[in-house]
Amino acid sequence: IQATFIPLLSKKKKINGGVIVLTDITELRKLETVRNDFVANVSHELRTPLTSIIGYLDTLLESEIKDNQTRNKFLKIIKEEADRLSILISDLLNLSKIESESIDLKAENFSDVILKVINLLEKNAEQKEINLEVKMPDQLPFVYMVKEQIEQVLVNLIDNAIKYTPARGKVEIVVNKTGDKVYFAITDTGIGIPATDQDRIFERFYRVDKARSRSLGGTGIGLSIVRNIIKQHGSEVKVKSNEGQGSTFSFYLKVARS
Ligand code: ADP
Repeated sequence: IQATFIPLLSKKKKINGGVIVLTDITELRKLETVRNDFVANVSHELRTPLTSIIGYLDTLLESEIKDNQTRNKFLKIIKEEADRLSILISDLLNLSKIESESIDLKAENFSDVILKVINLLEKNAEQKEINLEVKMPDQLPFVYMVKEQIEQVLVNLIDNAIKYTPARGKVEIVVNKTGDKVYFAITDTGIGIPATDQDRIFERFYRVDKARSRSLGGTGIGLSIVRNIIKQHGSEVKVKSNEGQGSTFSFYLKVARS
C-alpha cells in the first residue's frame, strides 16, 4: 500500500486538514516483477546460443584448426546455434504481436484448417512411425477465428504431441460440436507432464526438461503463444496428463451464427 498525504490549507496557508490517499500497488508491483523476470529470461535465452557461437568462432579464429573435419563440426554447431537464435527471435516477435493486437474474428471452416496443418506435419509423425489420427464429423459448422492464429495453435500442439511421444506411439485428434461450441482435443501416448508442472508449462520459457526440449529444437514459447491466442478467442486451453502415459490438450471455438 502506498500512502499519499494531500494537505488542505487555510487562507493563511496553514494546514487545517488533509486527505490521505491509500493506493494498493500490489498489482503494479506484480506487473513490474513479471516484466523484469521476462527481460531477464529473454536475455538469458538469447545469450546462451550467442555465447556458444562466439566461443566456437574464437576457437576457429585463434587456433588455426587445420583438421577439416573439426572445422566443419564447429561450423555446423555455429549454424545450429544461429538457427536457434533466429527461431527464438521470431517466436518472441510472434508472441508480442499476439499480445498487443486486438483481433478480428471471422467465420471459418475449422475442418479445412485442421486438415491443412495435418498435411504439413504428417511427415514428422511418419518419420517416428507415429500413428496420427483425426476423428471429426463430416459436417462441422463454421466457427469464429483468426485463421492464421488457429493454424499456429494447431501447429504448436500437434508438433509438441509428436515431439514428446516416443517412436511408434499414437497421436489422436478428436473434434466435435456440443451446443454452440466446437471442441478440439489432441491426445498423445507420450512422456506426459508431471502434475506439479502442468500449470506452469504455459509460461514463457517454461520447460519440464530443458535439455530434452532444447535437443528437440524447442524454445519454451510455443504453449504461451497457444494460451494467448486461445484466450483472445474467448476460450481456454486445458491440459490433462499422466506422467509416462500421455497428455491431452483441449480448447473450444464458438460456432458462427449463419
Ligand atoms: P517447447 O519449445 O519446449 O516444446 P512449449 O511451450 O511448446 O515449449 O512447451 C513447454 C513444455 O511443456 C515443453 O518443454 C514440455 O516440457 C512440455 N510439453 C508440451 N507439450 C507436451 C506434450 N504433448 N507431452 C509432454 N510434454 C509436453
